[in-house]
Amino acid sequence: MRWIFLLLLLGCPTRAARALGATQPFALHKVAEGIYTHIGAIALMNAGNEGGIANLSFIIGDKGIAVIDTGGSVREGRRFLAAIRTLSHKPILYVINTHVHPDHVFGNGAFVAPGTIFVGSRKLPATLSAQGPYYLKSFAPAMGPAMLADVTIVPPTLLVDRKLRLDLGDRVLILKAWAGGHSGTDISVEDMRTKTLVAGDLLFVRHIPVVDDSLLGYLADTRELALSDAATIVPGHGPVPQDWHRAVAKQAAYLETIKAELQADLKQGKGLAQSVQHVGESQRAQWQLFDDYNARNATTGFAELEWK
Ligand SMILES: [Zn+2]
Repeated sequence: MRWIFLLLLLGCPTRAARALGATQPFALHKVAEGIYTHIGAIALMNAGNEGGIANLSFIIGDKGIAVIDTGGSVREGRRFLAAIRTLSHKPILYVINTHVHPDHVFGNGAFVAPGTIFVGSRKLPATLSAQGPYYLKSFAPAMGPAMLADVTIVPPTLLVDRKLRLDLGDRVLILKAWAGGHSGTDISVEDMRTKTLVAGDLLFVRHIPVVDDSLLGYLADTRELALSDAATIVPGHGPVPQDWHRAVAKQAAYLETIKAELQADLKQGKGLAQSVQHVGESQRAQWQLFDDYNARNATTGFAELEWK
């Protein structure tokens, strides 16, 4: 806990935050020197939480700021921006989207400004234009039309092929594109000054891992993440772990379990409907939102392993 403390911005609600009708204080954790993270709710996106379920971070350098993910609505993005402005008035040089999912990119509109460059995976622009309209439609019932009315799809213009170096002024960030697994568009951001790795949804803590792209790819990414020399890893969902090695091992164990159980079922000729009934059940007590994602994870893995 030595360097983690909670800054509750309750005592200093900015005029901007009040004007936006924000009812909840926008809490920020200081993760390391000049690095702050807002920890999202472990929940599904809805109107009540303004889509605020993902972790949102920013890093302050001498010349300016890098924002990493913007939230699940423009409303949340504006509240995040207001919270950043209580700590620094430096220009926002970069907005980095760790991947395509709505809880990480729907707040982008709040950060569009002259001089701010949007950054993402080489695959992100095409994936956003293919899936963005679908996300807007599919989240409308839970979020309500008012919450989504001002959400626009803002694609990155600075793209990460493998690695990209950004300099915030005496503060170098290394962005890395991962092979795929969680979303197929995943990038991480490492602050070289403090060896803090902002991992996006390459790591889930407490919130069950979500396999949207590939079970085997996500397992490979998780094993690679375990080899990191980072001092601290900020997950995409859930609190910043005291011991990130343990958190990564726990995620690997979940993914290994569903892989092994799916392979056993396929060997015995079980069908998908039968398989999703039990695959991953032994891991239930370990994770929140288990019923919301486990069957979907098993389904993605089943389709993939069926062809192996
Ligand atoms: Zn995600």
